[in-house]
Amino acid sequence: MNSFFLDFRDPLFSIIIFLTLIFMITFLSYWWGRYKTKGNSKELDKFLQQFHALPTENELKILISSGELSQKSWLLLANSYTKSGDFEKAIEIYLEILRLPSRRNPKETMFLLGKVYFKAGFLERAKQIFLEILHTSPRTPQALHALLLVYEYLRDYKSALKVLEPLDEMNEAIDKDAMYLKVLALLHNPKKTQEEKTSQIIALYQEHHQLPYMVFEYLFRVNPTLAWEHLDTSQSEKLIDILWNLDTNALNLDIISHHNFLKALYTAKGVVQLSQASPIFELDMLIKLKDTPVNATLSFEYSCTQCKYIYPFAFHRCSNCHGIDTQDIEWSVVKDYHNNFQEETDSFQ
Ligand SMILES: [Zn+2]
Repeated sequence: MNSFFLDFRDPLFSIIIFLTLIFMITFLSYWWGRYKTKGNSKELDKFLQQFHALPTENELKILISSGELSQKSWLLLANSYTKSGDFEKAIEIYLEILRLPSRRNPKETMFLLGKVYFKAGFLERAKQIFLEILHTSPRTPQALHALLLVYEYLRDYKSALKVLEPLDEMNEAIDKDAMYLKVLALLHNPKKTQEEKTSQIIALYQEHHQLPYMVFEYLFRVNPTLAWEHLDTSQSEKLIDILWNLDTNALNLDIISHHNFLKALYTAKGVVQLSQASPIFELDMLIKLKDTPVNATLSFEYSCTQCKYIYPFAFHRCSNCHGIDTQDIEWSVVKDYHNNFQEETDSFQ
């Protein structure tokens, strides 16, 4: 019977104890390792979570007032929020900096705040900020330009034109702005008839010779006969897309036949036969292709000469850099899908 039980002095008993200890140590170190990995992962997740969620308004208030970061760092952070389109956070930062008793450069911070309000579409608030800056520092051209833009977006052209007076006194270039605002004021004046608008816009162009695209785009749209009558042919290349897209029955062949660029343009379009060649490569190519079965036309792209921003449509004021009449038209020869479609439709009839 005693042979079934091990004596503690038996060497087999020591081996069993030894193996049991090894098993327990291995088991404990395995669970300890798993526990630590889980803990580390949780800590890292918690740390990274802070960057996924933006700080709340209260958190920002505490962080900014604690002074742990310099005001310059906060301004840089607000700027990156603005660039990424998070205007609300940028506004909160600027407002909090302006509340600090130790705030530095309040005028500059207010200007940045006004610009974010403008970008975010809070035009009335932007207006109040720029007016406040100008109340204490009336000779601040940046604030005046920004205020002019706000008035323009608010369609308060009368106030926008008034802003040009101090800018003129500071020798700022205002000619284009003045003409642009006067044309906009006329176009959006419900009390004026179309005849009054066209005659006054023509008078403005004859006086200032500014913004040919804006003037003739409107004139060709509402009264092509009058537009041809007053067309400044020296600006024809700048108006190439407007002239190209005119209806055939809206053309003035008498004027076209007296101008080389117009002759080449409408020969290339296949409306007239007045030109054999053109120094403009794309027009020359279309003139040469007109007797072939190739369906080709001109396609236009618009870029800003100031900021190089590219648009698929024409513009009078660049929405990126806010430059006026900075449009540059580029054209290229493309397949005429409209004509192709027309031919395919006709072949089914
Ligand atoms: Zn631009």
